[in-house]
Amino acid sequence: MFDFKVIAKSQTCRARAGILQTAHGVVETPVFMPVGTRGSVKSVSPEELLAAGARIILGNTYHLYLRPGCDVISRFAGLHQFMHWDGPILTDSGGFQVFSLAKLAKISEEGVTFQSHLDGSSHLLTPTKVIDIQNCLGADIIMCLDDCIQYPATREDSLAALEITTKWAQRCKQAWQETKNGRNALFGIVQGGMFRDLREQSAEELMKIDFPGYAVGGLSVGEPTEVMLEMADDTLPNLPETKPRYIMGVGTPENLIELVALGTDMFDCVLPTRNARNGQMFTQHGTVNISNAQYKGDTEPLEPGCECYTCRHYSRAYLRHLYMARELLAYRLNTIHNIHYFIRFMKQIREAIVADEFESFRKTFYRKLEN
Ligand SMILES: [Zn+2]
Repeated sequence: MFDFKVIAKSQTCRARAGILQTAHGVVETPVFMPVGTRGSVKSVSPEELLAAGARIILGNTYHLYLRPGCDVISRFAGLHQFMHWDGPILTDSGGFQVFSLAKLAKISEEGVTFQSHLDGSSHLLTPTKVIDIQNCLGADIIMCLDDCIQYPATREDSLAALEITTKWAQRCKQAWQETKNGRNALFGIVQGGMFRDLREQSAEELMKIDFPGYAVGGLSVGEPTEVMLEMADDTLPNLPETKPRYIMGVGTPENLIELVALGTDMFDCVLPTRNARNGQMFTQHGTVNISNAQYKGDTEPLEPGCECYTCRHYSRAYLRHLYMARELLAYRLNTIHNIHYFIRFMKQIREAIVADEFESFRKTFYRKLEN
């Protein structure tokens, strides 16, 4: 059910185009996955997601495990039916949210104990449990439990997190094999903080365990962009050529194109959806703050030429009005455009790789951003 093939490579950098086969359909890579944190990509329906070009979305294990819980979702045979999304779904392991949202997260070899941010109830997530929950959610791509450390972190802490991540990865792999339903793929997550050699060590240890795909975690956690790109630059070539490579939680269009150049196939980020709700819109000429007074009587679409539902039907003046009046439709229309922008951008990148015109596409992208 799961397969990945690289179909084209840039001759000038490590950018590549591929095809990811999942139980719920085919995904062309590089791909951007909108984030559906609690079983919903905020403010838009699955039909609107599809129309905006989304083919694979992400769900958050931590949130869905706490609310509504696996007992509810299993009545629907998983998240696909529960949320009415027939396409591929990737779920994270919950680790990142445990460390960023939950209270009193405590790590041991067994797993991580924490208190729910919703009601303070105590929970223990073990590698086995994380696989069980994701199997219950029915995701097509599931992730290992990993130890996400804060930035900045000492070498000692980064090493300790890496070591526990490897141990948990072994147990996740074992649990996945035991419960293997042939319908999902398990990805390992490289950690190692901002230390090149630790990232290398983490990648090596995970490859020994052998996963259908690999993610790079612990990036975009507050480090400067140069450091993030440096870590990705060092880590990605250490991962197998034949497997999909996923950088978690990144980022801006500029980050995406640079990370594609370094050989990344998959991305997820809340940026397009969260910023849409804050009135920040992405266009090929840079970001637009829709609340700016200059758009008050602007009859043009947000991004002339954009084929999204929002740009086909509405003006900047209307979008500004909705946003200023805090009308609910503002969130929906803004989100539709931003998702469409990110998906279209990745599609254009892919076409450029296939035509081996990635470098000229990259140059044009930066030139347009400036005017
Ligand atoms: Zn648009």
